[in-house]
Amino acid sequence: MNWWREKPFRMVQNNLRDIDGAMDVDYEVEMLKKLGANVVQVGCGGISAFGPSKLECQRPTPFLVGDKFGEIVEKCHAAGIRVIARFDISKVHKDYLKTNPDWFTRRADGSPAYFEDCAAVCVNGAYQQKYILDVLKEAMTNYPIDGIFFNIPGYPVTDYNGNYVGICQCENCKKRFYEWSGGLTLPTIEDDNDPVFRKYEEFKTYTVADMLNKVRDLIKSIDPDIPLSTYSDNGIDIIRCEAQSAVKTKNFWLYSGSEDPAAIITTFPDKVPSNCVINAVDIPYRFMGVSTWLNQTRLYQNMAVGGNLDWCIVGSFEDYPDRANFEGVELEIWIAIFMNFFTMKD
Ligand SMILES: [Zn+2]
Repeated sequence: MNWWREKPFRMVQNNLRDIDGAMDVDYEVEMLKKLGANVVQVGCGGISAFGPSKLECQRPTPFLVGDKFGEIVEKCHAAGIRVIARFDISKVHKDYLKTNPDWFTRRADGSPAYFEDCAAVCVNGAYQQKYILDVLKEAMTNYPIDGIFFNIPGYPVTDYNGNYVGICQCENCKKRFYEWSGGLTLPTIEDDNDPVFRKYEEFKTYTVADMLNKVRDLIKSIDPDIPLSTYSDNGIDIIRCEAQSAVKTKNFWLYSGSEDPAAIITTFPDKVPSNCVINAVDIPYRFMGVSTWLNQTRLYQNMAVGGNLDWCIVGSFEDYPDRANFEGVELEIWIAIFMNFFTMKD
């Protein structure tokens, strides 16, 4: 039995920032042990590498001290904690616009979708079609990782600040859609009444699944016991979903801790859900947690439906300012350990 299907795991995700390239790994491991986590999902590569990558398609964070990801794997394994390597392939540094302009998502006027010092890359560009495979291969060669998560962006029509970008109009999208559809022109307006737009919706599904299959084939050819995780189901072992909040849309849905993982468990007998309880109130308030009650009920719901525990903060533990939910997470995770002890073999 694969480790992720044997019994529910208890995961913490530290969504690392560039400055965490200098994080204190001993402190991190102590916190994971205190909380009772037995899996950590942590930044490895993509937008920034947390080790000395030799690839031209990814840049180590400028704050990197030593091989931070290698140190995390070594010290977590010594403490009995599995490590899922996280890759964010949704964007790359804007410097690549000079050398690889064809990697990027384009608005109708040809401009890229910037976020801070990065810009979004397109599913159909060479970065997501080819170079991410090199990124994964390098990580699997250098580190004894226990799983791979990547943040699959698909075709977002807004940037990370919520501004409308529209249907990607890059040359790769135009060419691939034309060839795939047998001669149709890529639509520019999202209109469900337009049959070409409906065809484009099929194209998006197909191209994302095609890319995921390439990633899965690569991972399984190197090590079939490494699970692949993302927000999708085709070819995925650990299906990620999120119990999250949003201030603008007043989304503080009380049952987000149970409805998604329950649906996954009852739909896919060969896959497991990992419903990430997002500590942050919203992206603009990422260093402030939701109420302790909301955080706790989401974790309890994950447990109640037989899902895995999964909790996320932005950055490492050292300087996370709002620590009000740490105690609740610790309590829920230890209850989960207690329940596992009586219900399943170790
Ligand atoms: Zn495109």
